Amino acid sequence: MSARLPLNEFDPRSMLQARVTKIEKSRFPAIDIHTHLSWGDVLAGEQKVTQIATPEEILAVMDRKNIRLMVNLTGGYGKGLEECVRYWSGRHPERFLIFTEPWYSRIAEAGYAQFQADELERARKAGARGVKILMTLGLGLREKVTSGRLIKVDDPRFDPMWEAAGALGMPVAIHTSAPEAFFLPVDRYNERYEELAAHPDWSFHGGDFPAERELEEARNRVTARHPRTQFLVLHVGLAENLGYMSSCLDRYPNMLVEFGARISELGRQFRTARKFFDKYQDRILFGTDAVPHGEKEYPQQVFSDGLYEIYYRFLETEDEYFDYSTAPTPPQGRWRIYGLGLPDGILRKVYHDNAARLLGL
Ligand SMILES: [Zn+2]
Repeated sequence: MSARLPLNEFDPRSMLQARVTKIEKSRFPAIDIHTHLSWGDVLAGEQKVTQIATPEEILAVMDRKNIRLMVNLTGGYGKGLEECVRYWSGRHPERFLIFTEPWYSRIAEAGYAQFQADELERARKAGARGVKILMTLGLGLREKVTSGRLIKVDDPRFDPMWEAAGALGMPVAIHTSAPEAFFLPVDRYNERYEELAAHPDWSFHGGDFPAERELEEARNRVTARHPRTQFLVLHVGLAENLGYMSSCLDRYPNMLVEFGARISELGRQFRTARKFFDKYQDRILFGTDAVPHGEKEYPQQVFSDGLYEIYYRFLETEDEYFDYSTAPTPPQGRWRIYGLGLPDGILRKVYHDNAARLLGL
C-alpha cells in the first residue's frame, strides 16, 4: 500500500446501505428553463450560432422524462437568433422557446445603449421570449470588447435594454458571478480544486477581476433600478450562501431564482435548502443548465435521461448521500447530496407553474 495516493486516483465506494429511489418521470410536467441547445461566441461579433443537437434527439429525452418545454437560453442575436428560432421553435413551437443575447461586440459604438434596447424589440418580433446574460458581462466583456477595462454588470449603457426587457415582457435570465471558490486561490484549501485544475480558465482569482460579492451587488442594483423587469437569477446566484440569497429575494420582488448545476450545493445543505424552497416556492424555477454532448466541458450537466433522474430524485425523494452528477467522479467537488422530498404543492410550482407564469404561457 502506498502512503501517498494521487487525488485523481482516489475513488472510494460508499459503504452506506442507503435507499435508492429511481424517478423516471417528473411528478408533474416540467419546464426546463435553463438549457443550451446552441452556442455562439458573444464577443466575436458574428451573428452565428451553432446548433449542438437536433430537435428529434432532444424531444426523445423530453418525452421519456416528462418535460413539456425546454428553453434554449443561448439563442444569439441578429440573423443567428432568427435561424435558431426557426430551427427549434419553427417545427415544435410548443416544445422549445429561445432567448436572445446582447450584441456585445457593438458596445464601443456611439449610441449602443439605444441600439441594444431597439435590438431587443427586434429580437422579440423574431420570436425571442427573454434575454440571457452570460457571465461574460462582468467577467469577460471589456471596453474594447476583448481588451481594456472590464465593463460592470450595472453599467448605465445597459439601462435602456433592461427597461425594454420589462416593457416587452421578456424576463432576463442572468448568470452573474460563479461559485465563490472560483474567486479564491487554486490551492489545497480550495473545495473546487479538481474542477479548477481541469478548467484553469474558470478561475477568477487575481488579475483585475472583481470580488464575488461585488458582482452580486451590481446585479442587485440593476434589479432595484428596473422594478418592472423580471430578473431570473441563474444557478441560485450564490448557492453556497442561501442566507444571502434570501436577503436578496426579500429585497427585490422582481427577482426569481433557478438552480441549474447547483443541486451539488443545495443538496449538501438540504435542511436549509428545504426551508428555502418552502419560503420562496413561488419564485424558484426548475432548470438544469443541460448541454447536449458536453461531456468534456460540462460533466455535471450533460443532457441525458440520467441527468433528469438525478434532479427528480433530489427534488422528490428523501434519499441520502447520492451522486449529483452522472460523471464517474463528482465534478464540482467530492461530496454527495441528500434529497429534499418536496410536497406536491411545491413540486408543481417549481417544475412548471412558476416558469409558465414568468414566460406568459
Ligand atoms: Zn447555463
